[in-house]
Amino acid sequence: MGSGNRQNAYRQKRLAQRKRSRLIRQLPYFLISLLIVGILGGITYRAGAAILPILEKTKRDESSANESDAANPSADSGASADETGAGGADGTGADGEPVGTDPDEETVSRTDALLDDAQLLAAGYDYDAAIELLKSSEDYGNGADGAGDPRIDSAIAEYEAVKATLQPVETTEITHVFFHSLVMDESKAFDGDGDASGYNQVMTTKDEFLKILDSMYKKGFVLVRLHDVATMSDGKMVRGRILLPPGRKACVMSQDDVCYYEYMEDDGFARRMVIGDDGKPACEMVMDDGTVSVGAYDMVPLLEDFIQAHPDFSYKGARAVIAFTGYQGILGYRTAASYKNTNPNYAADCEAAAAVAKCLRDNGWELASHSWGHRDLGDISYDKFKTDCDKWKAEVESLIGPTDIILYPFGADVSDWHAYSHDNQRFMYLKSLGFNYFCNVDSSQYWVQLGNDYLRQGRRNLDGYRMWMDIAAGKGSSSRKLDDLFQAEDVFSSNRPTPVVWN
Ligand SMILES: [Zn+2]
Repeated sequence: MGSGNRQNAYRQKRLAQRKRSRLIRQLPYFLISLLIVGILGGITYRAGAAILPILEKTKRDESSANESDAANPSADSGASADETGAGGADGTGADGEPVGTDPDEETVSRTDALLDDAQLLAAGYDYDAAIELLKSSEDYGNGADGAGDPRIDSAIAEYEAVKATLQPVETTEITHVFFHSLVMDESKAFDGDGDASGYNQVMTTKDEFLKILDSMYKKGFVLVRLHDVATMSDGKMVRGRILLPPGRKACVMSQDDVCYYEYMEDDGFARRMVIGDDGKPACEMVMDDGTVSVGAYDMVPLLEDFIQAHPDFSYKGARAVIAFTGYQGILGYRTAASYKNTNPNYAADCEAAAAVAKCLRDNGWELASHSWGHRDLGDISYDKFKTDCDKWKAEVESLIGPTDIILYPFGADVSDWHAYSHDNQRFMYLKSLGFNYFCNVDSSQYWVQLGNDYLRQGRRNLDGYRMWMDIAAGKGSSSRKLDDLFQAEDVFSSNRPTPVVWN
């Protein structure tokens, strides 16, 4: 697991941010001090020397007051984490840190880091871990009078109080939304060429995605893993126990076909996923001038950035489910066996794709099958079904490692809505390959079936077609499907050709 590294990296960043914002906060006082010293200095050196410590003291009082504010997150702690994260954006700060040789400085900053780490855990709803972390600190209950830094005690009390308000999430009331690769350049995707109509129907644009995230966050949605919803235990699927503060709702998110297919080239999408300099998944995109840029060019890095800014959008580090077919390789690397003789970087690409997949897992993403050949698994002959499943295992699972999640292509299930039966040959074959989570497509708000030995969930497509259907139905219409998540009118890109027709 890379979570330790991530915590460390995050802590470093927060420390740097705090140092910067402290510098910026203190700068005015420092300048005022200088000014006053300048004015008074001509009159009497003693006067200036007397004033300075007073200013210093005021400054220190205020700065510690600010810090304890920031270290006292409520259930809504994401907001304060957000503010802290956004603070001190420009690193003007040179080396102007006042030379306050406070002997307690090191302890204070160690406590700050501890409180930050605990706050991050609490923001992700892991109050137990946050409290445990604080209580295990050497600064807890360790002062001269037997009491440690009071901020630690007040943070513990705060988390205990929030913990007492938590409510279990109803398993059957967990919605699941999904996307395809996001359109980064709308002028290229909706340019009227042969693929434009398909993109208009089943793709979502970057701006739309960010608006959807924003709306879902404001409505209290929190990302959970499929493995949080239910888990296998002794051969049985057991409902999970997700605890959230009142007003928060659990949701699962997924993305299909994260393969950056050949046909998508030059159509305004990323070209592949890579590991960014910060160790997190990022995307490569070819710019108009032919250069390659690495950045947030698809859902994965955009969601990483969003959660960095809003840690309370993710339950205990959850991310989305990423699903792959195999016929053109995964993540933009041409790793399918059929490329062995045509891709000169075949071996290196397989290695790189495997490394990115591991990076995704390490960062909380769940990985899934989307069949090898994007086949209708309920409809093709059983022989073809079996061959497809085996090819996925050989060409994709060999790179990404074992997974127990399948997101059906076209949403086409291997059975009707009734519970899976052990007489169902296809279900049993998928089970024999290790699959326990089965997701079709359904536009209902909730579609969760907790079977004896599986979890089945319907997924809602948040794409151009679905949004257009809501818009065409008109506000207030009972056939609208997205209002619990966002208002389609507020999200739908004005660059899309309309009407969006399904074909
Ligand atoms: Zn698909």
